Amino acid sequence: MLIVMQAHASEEQVRAVCEKIESVGLKAHSIPGAQRTAIGITGNQGIVEIGLEEMAGVQEVICVSKPYKLVSRDVKEENTVITFPGTDTTIGGKELAVIAGPCAIESREQAFKIAEQVAKAGARFFRGGAYKPRTSPYAFQGMGEAGLQIMAEIRERFGMLIVTEAMDYESLEQVEKYADVIQIGARNMQNYSLLKRAGRARRPVLLKRGMSATLEEFLMAAEYVMSEGNYQVILCERGVRTFADHTRNTLDLSIVPAVHRLSHLPILVDPSHGTGKRTKVLPLSRAAVAVGADGLIVEVHHDPDRALSDGPQSIYPDQFAELMREVGAIAPIIGRSMAAPVAAVAGASR
Ligand code: PEP
Ligand code: MN
Repeated sequence: MLIVMQAHASEEQVRAVCEKIESVGLKAHSIPGAQRTAIGITGNQGIVEIGLEEMAGVQEVICVSKPYKLVSRDVKEENTVITFPGTDTTIGGKELAVIAGPCAIESREQAFKIAEQVAKAGARFFRGGAYKPRTSPYAFQGMGEAGLQIMAEIRERFGMLIVTEAMDYESLEQVEKYADVIQIGARNMQNYSLLKRAGRARRPVLLKRGMSATLEEFLMAAEYVMSEGNYQVILCERGVRTFADHTRNTLDLSIVPAVHRLSHLPILVDPSHGTGKRTKVLPLSRAAVAVGADGLIVEVHHDPDRALSDGPQSIYPDQFAELMREVGAIAPIIGRSMAAPVAAVAGASR
């Protein structure tokens, strides 16, 4: 259920409605909007008859028929814009958010080399896995906390925000300490206890679509995170399994407008895992931005032939710079823009 407050409802009125909801053992999620505040109720099985309609400041009580509530545009009409304190970088605003970096942090030298080049090309976010979900238990599993420390140094040096994956409770605790955005990978999209834990974290969560997840399953996974009180969720399309074998996965770009129609959450596209092929990353990045994605997450490596994971889909730094130019040229056509490189790098290159 959803309580829509009147436009002029006071803070006390909103608080009184929340207290009433919580007094019967349910959870109230107050979501302020540009026009009015909406209060989502979770924990209930159907209609809640506690006289909410009669309370001061309440405009309407809506029975939400969709299984997802907090992710829905019914709760919040305007787009969610994720902000990062102390910076002017956003995800979901007018500016496209571009996250770039290697699949995995392999060494300090490798990470710094790539970070410098993607920062110069204009990436505001640096990605790199410290905990890697690999198909083989014998493959490189990531550097763990040492990898997180390298990324924290990269943030200091280049001013980029850090995005990295948490695979389980333990790694989430570590990632939360070092990173600016917690990535939940495709393989964990339906790991409900991990989603709930991410919902109690105080950092935005980048939630990747499961390999065979429907739109509804994807939104329900985001609902898990939000139901615990973390409303800073960024969705990410990274390709799904199909019969097609000319690419690693089939990048489902049609989910971008479908998400935007149903949800206020931002959605990024990952053309690297989405295709698995270096030559496909640039054309699908252009397409993703043209279709309305709020940004991209791209794997970049200076020596992909020797990369410890996902070399074949990693683009070279100069290809990333070209991608930024081309995507930046498309952005204004659809009312978006590309952020200038972060000040720390712009200054260093002068
Ligand atoms: C990754 O971003 O490196 C990754 C493992 O992605 P996904 O979970 O989409 O496979
Ligand atoms: Mn990867």
